[in-house]
Amino acid sequence: MKKIKALALFSGGLDSILAARVVAAQGIEVVAVKFVTPFFENDILTDVEVYQEKIREKYSINVIVEDISEGYLELLHNPTHGFGKNFNPCIDCKIFMLSRAKEMMAELGASFLITGEVLGQRPMSQRRDTLNVIERDSGSRTQLLRPLSAKLMNPTQAELDGLVDREQLYNFSGRGRSRQIALAKEFGIEDYPAPAGGCILADPILSRRIKKVYDGDFVIAPEEITADDIRMMLVGRQLLLPGGGWLILGRDERENDRMEKLVTDDDATFFMEERPGPFAVLRKAAVCYDDAAKRDSDIRITASLVVRYGKKVKDGQKGADVGVKLAGQAYEIFAEPLEDKIFQSWIL
Ligand code: SF4
Repeated sequence: MKKIKALALFSGGLDSILAARVVAAQGIEVVAVKFVTPFFENDILTDVEVYQEKIREKYSINVIVEDISEGYLELLHNPTHGFGKNFNPCIDCKIFMLSRAKEMMAELGASFLITGEVLGQRPMSQRRDTLNVIERDSGSRTQLLRPLSAKLMNPTQAELDGLVDREQLYNFSGRGRSRQIALAKEFGIEDYPAPAGGCILADPILSRRIKKVYDGDFVIAPEEITADDIRMMLVGRQLLLPGGGWLILGRDERENDRMEKLVTDDDATFFMEERPGPFAVLRKAAVCYDDAAKRDSDIRITASLVVRYGKKVKDGQKGADVGVKLAGQAYEIFAEPLEDKIFQSWIL
């Protein structure tokens, strides 16, 4: 007999782990999907296989990693259900993920979807009326099973069709975690992440940068922003220079490496050979200036900032040569460090 298959939306939090395991415990094959964007879980993309192995080992769950950045950047222009406290479009975000998961069901041969949502756990996005809106707008009403709160809801199609035994599902509700923790113990799961955020769109400080872009108040127009631009926006020191340029300075080797991977042909890059210091990127310098004098001035400023944040030398020599690469050309500029009071107001 063909094994029944279900697709679980996997946040990595305890509820999503339990939801997948509760259904798998009924002999159903559960495949989990982890959605990533530059705003959440981006680091997983550095090594997907390591992540998959970790989840398999810790929770006995097979997970597919799906990058949904492209559609997600679109969603942020005008989410139907608006934003939360910061720039987090939680309801539309869930609708978007469920819609994508619904498409994947056919590709994977899954009969229904699973989420770890618990009725009343979050003030906004897990209220009963909001859960109804999410399943209605994602078109997943008949396919979506929420195993942890299923007994407080009408039976889903998977239950009515006898694919899932409703008796072995749960009636969790509210903010308390004790029942989840007890259930985790039954499954032998002791090491799971704390129920913390991790979404940049819900972060009061970082989300402001993203909002600025979508408000049209940034060097790059909202309709032109790419996932890699956003990734660049979330690394290093960020400055808006007087000539209009967007500058990113790495704060350590890890950030320098990360930035190097995000560089495009339109960027100007800066690096000091003679001392340890930041890698710097003047994003889209080849195309974003309508005035060459402004670009040259921002390039000189950038070189001075690279020296400012570079390692100090003992012999009193402050200035240094900074290598610049722009539009296929490479050259050096001698620059003195820029005084802090000059650039404080340029920091994003
Ligand atoms: S916090 Fe972020 S990832 Fe979570 S639902 Fe809201 S927007 Fe989506």
